[in-house]
This record gives sequence, structure tokens and C-alpha cells, in this order.
Amino acid sequence: MCFTVADWLRTEVRTSRRTFLRCGLMAGAAAASFEYGRSHALAGVAEGAEPPPPLALTGARIYPGPDAPPIPRGVVLTSGKAIVAVGSQEQVSIPSGARTLDCTGLVVTAGFTNCHVHFTEAKWQAANSATATHLAGAFSAMLTRYGFVRVVDTGSSLPNTRDLGHRVDGANVLGPQIITAGPNFVPPAGTPFYLQPARLPELTDPGTAETLIEQALDGGADVVKLFTGSFARQDSIAIMPVDVVRAATARAHQRGKLVLAHPSNGTGARAALDGGVDILAHTFPSELTGPWDRSLPVRMREAGMALIPTLKLWPYEAQRLGLAPALAERARVNSAAQVKMFTDAGGQLLFGTDVGYMTDYDPTDEYVLLGRAGLSFPQILAALTTEPASRFGRSAHSGRVAAGMDAELVVLDGDPDRDITALARVRYVLQQGRIIYSRTLSG
Ligand SMILES: [Zn+2]
Repeated sequence: MCFTVADWLRTEVRTSRRTFLRCGLMAGAAAASFEYGRSHALAGVAEGAEPPPPLALTGARIYPGPDAPPIPRGVVLTSGKAIVAVGSQEQVSIPSGARTLDCTGLVVTAGFTNCHVHFTEAKWQAANSATATHLAGAFSAMLTRYGFVRVVDTGSSLPNTRDLGHRVDGANVLGPQIITAGPNFVPPAGTPFYLQPARLPELTDPGTAETLIEQALDGGADVVKLFTGSFARQDSIAIMPVDVVRAATARAHQRGKLVLAHPSNGTGARAALDGGVDILAHTFPSELTGPWDRSLPVRMREAGMALIPTLKLWPYEAQRLGLAPALAERARVNSAAQVKMFTDAGGQLLFGTDVGYMTDYDPTDEYVLLGRAGLSFPQILAALTTEPASRFGRSAHSGRVAAGMDAELVVLDGDPDRDITALARVRYVLQQGRIIYSRTLSG
């Protein structure tokens, strides 16, 4: 059967990568005083399109950005969809009539972005007709309860994920804003064995790459995702020819779109690098043919490529598959070294966890592993906020707690500068000036 992009757009991604990872790794590898909204807000239905009234978050320790000093007991004042003032309690006057959210003892940062998620589980299907309560519950469980106001879906059914995004953007459903890749493209005969017998669209030559990328972007994809290295069989990785990668990235860039790549190993990472890919969607700890190429992190930095670590994915899979502890440890060491060498070289790290594939949604382990890799709290905060904003062209609007920025805020139940796991202990999340998650309300 001839498999086209249109077929793929209707095809659910099946993401059992059990054997892939076995192969790869084994080879080496609150504030109760606050009253929010009408009762339907509790059920996950947004209040409508009218701008939210002024809201003052008071008493919190504010981290305005990764490179700015904290404000010990500050005030963030929002009005409509924007932040209008940030400062100490003496500096910011709260207008009469403003709602107040007492955040004494809590911490405020900018809203988080998760740059590697998937909307492929059954609960996301029929997004155009699912109830707002159902969808908001699903968003809360996987994303908003952990502070994510924006996500990058790196592979799913494009029409369905676009419907999900429209439900959120239409202020009908409380959830994160969604950037989606939709279909994933593979080398010739390069569909990962764990997805077969389905076949992903194959980029057989530069001309075909240009045509299929064009179709996906015409279909509404926001970014492009390539498998530059794909476990086409359990014991071998298909590599996308560099001229094909170049043709795909050139066409995407002509349309103003970024390109992400799944590398599988160092050779796949090199194909992405040489082909002009913008973002590597994973570290590449598997070692099928020998030690990983330690020149890659610096070369990636020199090329302006960003990296999404997905460090938790490797031990998650090792545990799920029952791999020997030594193999899991090797994957951890390799992936941590890649992240550290990359950031030491000045590379741009984008936070991402592969949730939606991973059914354990909690990002706590990712924060712990990033810390163990040698990253500081400001570096991790940057990967969650300012760096995704920069890479996705939103720095003028988001990523910092500052007047004039969009009112995208996370309120934490602890200080992540003292304990990095506090990044996962979220009390409230604001997006566009609305509270889209409250632990008090959502449990
Ligand atoms: Zn993924």
C-alpha cells in the first residue's frame, strides 16, 4: 500500500518502543482564602473570551528570570492577559477591586514549556467532540498540574492535535497552548520496527522530502519532526541521507518552521547536525557501534542546534524492561555527559520529557537528573522558560515575570533554588491571565 502523509495524518501513532530501547540500551547503552471563578471553572471549562479582571499575587518569592535576582516578598499584578507590574510590596500598588491571591511562603516563576510531549494516548482522541471536563482533566494530569503552559507535541495525529489546540485557544478548555509536529518522517524503509506494520511517510529523496514536508505544513503542522536515525529493525538503525535532511529542513525553513530530529544514536545525531536540523529531540545514550562521538556537543553548539535532554526516559525504559542496572547506569552517564558538555559549550537546552509516551507524567526525576548532570537551578529554569521562548520566537511575550509579558505564571510550593524537586510541586498555574490549574481545586 502506498502510504501518504494524508494516511499518516489519520493514523494513530503507536509508541511501544519496548524492544527499541532494550536493543539500544542493551547494546551499550494554598491559599484557601482565594475564591476563583464560577463553579464550572472547577470542571475545567474556561470562563469565556472576556478578559480576566486584575489579579494580584502577593507575598511570594519571585524569580523574574534565570538571570535576575529574586524578589523576596513580591507582588505580581496582572490585568487581562498581561503582567502589568512586578516588584516588592512597597513598589506595587494594588488597585481597588483587584482580586488577590495570597502566595505567602510560595514561589512564583514564569510558566513552563515542555518541548517533548505526545498526544497519542486514547484519552486524547475525538478531541473535537470530547467534553471540556474530560480534556481539562487529561491536560491537568499530564501537563498543567506540573506548570506547563505551553507544549511541543513531537508526533501525533495532526488533525486531532490541532483540534485539541483549537479547544484550548478558543478558551473552551483549560489546558496548555500546543505547538505540534503532527506526522513524523523516516528514511527509506525506516519506520521504527516498534510502529510496524504501520508505515510512517518515507523521505526517499530530496524532491519527495520537499513535497511531503510541504503537505504536512499545509495540513497545519507548526514544526517538522524527522527520524534522522530510526530503529528500523531491532538490531540496526536506518539513517536518513544528509541530502534528504537538508532538503526537508530547507523547505521547512522557507516556511519559517523549525525542524526537530529523533537521533537514536550518534550517527543519527550527526545526520541531523549536518542536515541543518534545529533541535535534537533526545540525547543519544545508546551505543550500538561503539562509544558515542564526544565531539558532537560542541559541534551542535557551533551549529546553533538546541537539545532536549529527556533524561528520565532512559532509566524509565530500563526499569520497565528489566535491564541490568549496569546498562541503565551507562545510559544515564552517557546522557548526563552529553547534556553537561553541551551546556558547558553554551548550547541551548530545552526542557522536555516525552510524556504521553511515558505514562509516568511526573517530571520530578527529570529535574533530579538534570541536577545530577551538573546543571544549576538557573540553567534548569532557563530550559523551562526563557530558552523555549527564545527558540520558538516568543521572547517578547513570555518566559519572564516582567511587566508587559503575557500573564503566564507558575506558583510553587517550595523554593527550587534550595530543592530542585520543588519545580514539580505546583500550587497554581496562570495562562493568559486565567488560572488554568489550582491544586486546591483540582486535588
Ligand atoms: Zn517522543
